[in-house]
Parts: sequence; C-alpha cells; structure tokens
Amino acid sequence: MFDLIVRNANIISADCVFSGSVAVSGEKIAALLPADTAEPAHSFIDADHAFLFPGFIDAHVHFNDPGFEWREDFSHATQAAALGGVTTVVDMPLQNDPALTDRTIFERKHRLLKNKAYIDYAFWGGMIDDNLDKLNELNECGVTSFKSFLAPVSSDYTSLDYGRVRKGLAMIKKFHGLAGFHCEDFGIISYNEAAAVKSGRVSREDYLQARPVAAELIAVQSIIELSREIGTRVHICHVSHPSVAEAIKRAKYEGVPITAETCPHYLVFNAEHFLKEGMYFKCAPPLRSKEASEALWSYVQDGTLDLIASDHSPCAPKEKSESEGSFKAWGGISGVQTSLQVMFHELKKRGWSPTILARIMSRNPAEIFGMQTRKGELIPGYDADFVLVDPKIEWEIKEDQLAYLNKQSAFIGYKGVGLPTCTVLRGQVIAVNGAVVGASGEGQLIRREC
Ligand SMILES: [Zn+2]
Repeated sequence: MFDLIVRNANIISADCVFSGSVAVSGEKIAALLPADTAEPAHSFIDADHAFLFPGFIDAHVHFNDPGFEWREDFSHATQAAALGGVTTVVDMPLQNDPALTDRTIFERKHRLLKNKAYIDYAFWGGMIDDNLDKLNELNECGVTSFKSFLAPVSSDYTSLDYGRVRKGLAMIKKFHGLAGFHCEDFGIISYNEAAAVKSGRVSREDYLQARPVAAELIAVQSIIELSREIGTRVHICHVSHPSVAEAIKRAKYEGVPITAETCPHYLVFNAEHFLKEGMYFKCAPPLRSKEASEALWSYVQDGTLDLIASDHSPCAPKEKSESEGSFKAWGGISGVQTSLQVMFHELKKRGWSPTILARIMSRNPAEIFGMQTRKGELIPGYDADFVLVDPKIEWEIKEDQLAYLNKQSAFIGYKGVGLPTCTVLRGQVIAVNGAVVGASGEGQLIRREC
C-alpha cells in the first residue's frame, strides 16, 4: 500500500508531458501509475488535470541568515519558497556573518538554520582572497559550489584577482567541484563609479552607465579562458545580456565545461523599469535594454542558459532609499516565491512547452549542483518533491501575498496565469493554495554528491 497517490495529473518531465499519477512511499517516489489508477493508498490528492512538475530547485538565493536577519531570515524565506513551488534552495555564502568560508562556519550555519527550514537546502561555499586553503574542507562538508566575485562586494567578502581565480580553479578541479562567478570586471566598474560619485553624478542613469555590458563580457571571457586552460567546471551567475550568452554558447561548442543561469528579472524587466520605477529594480549586473532582455529568451530556449535562479536578494526598506543617490541604494531583487509563476506564464505566453520549465528549474539545477541522484526528476527512488500548477488561475502579485520578511519586490503588480497550488516535500504537503502547512525544521541539508 502506498502512502500517497496524486491522481489525474498532467505530469511534466524535462523530456515529455504525459497523463498519469504519482505514488509515494515514505519520502520517496514509489511509482508512476496511470491517471485513473485504482491502486490503494493511505491518502489521495486529485490533481484534476493540473500540471505536476518535479519540485523546483533555486540554486542562487541570499537568505541573509545568520547575520543579516533584518533583511530576510531562513524561516520567512523557506516558507516563501514553499509557496512558490520551490522544494530545494542553494544559499549563497555572502550576506552571512561571517561569510561561509571554512568548515567551522559551515557547521555553525547548519546548526543555526536547521530548525528554521521549511524546505531542503544546500550551501554554496565562498572562494575569497584568503581562504584558498579551505576549499578542500568545504568540499568535504558538502558545499555544492564556490562563489567568487571579480567586482568589489563588501569588505568581508573580497573579490579575487585572476591569479587567485586561476589557483582556486586548479584546487577545485582536484575534487571535480564547481566554481561560480559574479561576472563583472572590477577595474571598469570601480573606475566609473568613483568618477561618477566624485563629480556628483549619482542618478539612475549614472548607475547604469557605470556597469556597461563590456564589464560583464570581459569578466565572462576571462573565466572562459581560465576554465578552458585548467578544465575546471565553471558556472556563470545571472547572465544579463545576449552578447554574454553568445560568448557562453561559443565556449560550450568549444568544449569548455561551462554552465550558466539567468534570472526572471533579466527576462521580464529592462532598464526602462529601473529608470522609471527606481531602486526596487536595482540589481547587479543591472537591467539592460528592452531589446537585450527579449533577445535573452532565445538562449533560455536553446539551452545556452542552463537554468533559472531567482538571485533572491532582499533588504530592509530603508536600504532601498535613493536619498544618497543610486549607487548607495541596495542592489538586489526578491523573487524566490514568484519565479515559477512568472516563468510559467511567460513560457505559456510564448507557446513554449512546459517541459522547458522542468528542465531549467528542476533537472538542470539538480544535475549541475550535485543532487542529481535524488532530486530534480520524477523517478522512482528519488525524493518525492513535486508541485502542482493550475494552468488556469489568473493572478496579480500583491505585497500581502509575499511571505518574505520584507514584503517588497520588483514583481509586485506583475500579472499572469498559472499558479502553484500544492507543494510536496519528500512526501509531505508543505504548502497548499497559498498557505504554508509544513513545519519548521522539516527541511534537510543536502550535501553535494561527489
Ligand atoms: Zn547573488
């Protein structure tokens, strides 16, 4: 007897759509059965032909916990994720105090967060200028990947020169790890920013001009060359422009072991939104032109951009203040709760198959971030993580629906169709019709499979 059967679903895998039922035993998927199965189970859910996707994996979030809990915390953020159909996140090592750069900090972070998590979670490790001797121990802890900046961040999370990047890549290659990069060139941005601030040019337009596409492109090209030379797997975070995607596409054809992501905000917003609406649309790299944003979609469709991540990066409302100019205001957009519905709507609008969503938001992130034998697909023996999406529900994102600590987002006011209605984590329903029904502490740490 199964524990749970979800009947009558339109099951969406990364490869196909088929009518069926999903049977669960304990925490695992036990079988895929016909839609009208009469197999016995302790409980049933009638999907009523809703779409059933593998649980979504958001591989780039900043939940700010521990250390910056006035911006976000693990409890609020993982509940928001559950409502949005996300069953696993990979949390970034910065915007933590201290940043996650060694084994002791990894263990402390896990200890502090494990009773707060409503969904499963994994950790990025940091690769900064003085912790190259800690990469091995972080890998042993089970970090999925290592995050580095080539642009200045905060003083406790230093950016790397290319010499250190090269050394770090050689070390990460030894355990077949993954190095992820925020690709914007330090030299260009810091020069532009300093010059603009010095002459009092701190408007929204000045912020955009200080971070040109060339800065992103130069950084990406450099990482491509280092990966080509050393052979380490590299992942490019938040690609903002089609010319950057084109460079990545070429590198893939040339055999460079490179993967890349973009975020919903680069696909559905553009520089005009930032110039008109202001700091809630500030991010780095910045939003690009309308034409660039539209052209980025084709790289999602053709697989150059392997996955979609939210880069959920919240802050306190006062940190978005523009009173001291656009450079000082917080750069980051909250989106972990709304990525799926926005992407579902946009794909449907374009007439694209929902299998693309299962590929870029479930299977590929599982594969790239080392959880491919238990997550990301609907296969017997895998974790029973899945989400039902009702393709007919029309929605508008409203502030009071957001479960974030700070209920602010560029996506407020966005309208679409198709909404997650039921999220299941390892066999347990954790969110249903906009309400969290899971429990704090049910989320587990996922360590990279080596
Ligand atoms: Zn980020």
